[in-house]
Amino acid sequence: MIVGVLGAGQLARMIALAGYPLGVDFIFLDPSADACANTLGEHLLGDYNDPRLLAELAERADVVTYEFENVPADVAEFLAAHTQVHPSPNALAVAQDRLVEKAFFHDLDIPTPAYAAVDSFESLEQAMPAIGWPAILKSRTQGYDGKGQSVLKSADDLKAAWELLEGAPAVVEAFVPFDREVSIIAVRNVSGSIVFYPLSENLHRGGILRVSESREGDAMQTQAEAYVSRLMEALDYVGVLALELFEIEGKLIANEFAPRVHNSGHWTIEGAETSQFENHLRAILDLPLGATAAVGKSAMVNFIGNLPSTKEVLGIPQAHLHLYKKSPRKGRKVAHATVRADNSEKLSGLIKALTTLADQVDDS
Ligand code: AMP
Repeated sequence: MIVGVLGAGQLARMIALAGYPLGVDFIFLDPSADACANTLGEHLLGDYNDPRLLAELAERADVVTYEFENVPADVAEFLAAHTQVHPSPNALAVAQDRLVEKAFFHDLDIPTPAYAAVDSFESLEQAMPAIGWPAILKSRTQGYDGKGQSVLKSADDLKAAWELLEGAPAVVEAFVPFDREVSIIAVRNVSGSIVFYPLSENLHRGGILRVSESREGDAMQTQAEAYVSRLMEALDYVGVLALELFEIEGKLIANEFAPRVHNSGHWTIEGAETSQFENHLRAILDLPLGATAAVGKSAMVNFIGNLPSTKEVLGIPQAHLHLYKKSPRKGRKVAHATVRADNSEKLSGLIKALTTLADQVDDS
């Protein structure tokens, strides 16, 4: 079985690592010569819309998937006309555009922050009375890890925030004073079965995920499962999907969804019976889905900017280190580590030990 992956970054790398025991081979299409999954399969080096490479991928791969959502929509459409593509190009199109995504949530009765479309400075000014302060201005497309976003605290911030977008269409939304951020990772296979992981509780700083903790038995699990099933069914979705949510006063509000494996699910490699990466492959290959129960309590800490010392991380006996083989760069996720414990107190101590190491290398 050959799986084609658009993108050869760390998510593709972890998908491939999960596929090896199942005897799956991989072909990656990625424009970067040193993409970090490139030693784990064949690397087609070129642009995502290179017609020759796309034709080769479609010809050779039994199924094509992707590791990030900013692939040109017509690329996914082209591939879907020639081979199986999961998730569908439609899921990709919805997730690529924050305005379309929010309208999609709205149609499914999944709550979102108050929002308005912004395509000029005047439309931003006009939207603010209804949205209220503080608010966040986000580019509609190409945003990730807080990129293309500005917090608006008062009318004085509008001009600079609008100029930062350089004319790109945007959406302005109310800032949610959330109690916490959670995400739910769910998996749906070709025949429509859905399995859910225990919620992830997520800590962001500067718009970038820092720590995710598994939360088996969380009070918000049922509500999150209801929202994510609605979303997956409406999209006739196949594969792993991550829905990011804000919790406020016992209610969940959708922020966004990722049509792919997700950073807040990395803990599932050691902390669940079947990892999100293996279950994504099972789903797109039409295989039975694996159990998603948590194995103990676990947490994942990202290393951002610079590489941690392998010896220091592994000096924590419970730590499992994942180095992505990416060169250090400001704000770049270069590694993560997962720790597992049988009680919350022990887990907190282990998280503290890892975050201390992560803060030493963090330059963001
Ligand atoms: P995003 O790229 O939309 O996932 O945003 C990155 C992070 O910024 C989120 O995980 C939150 O921590 C924060 N954020 C984004 N939108 C909002 C919002 N409307 N209210 C409060 N925080 C937000």
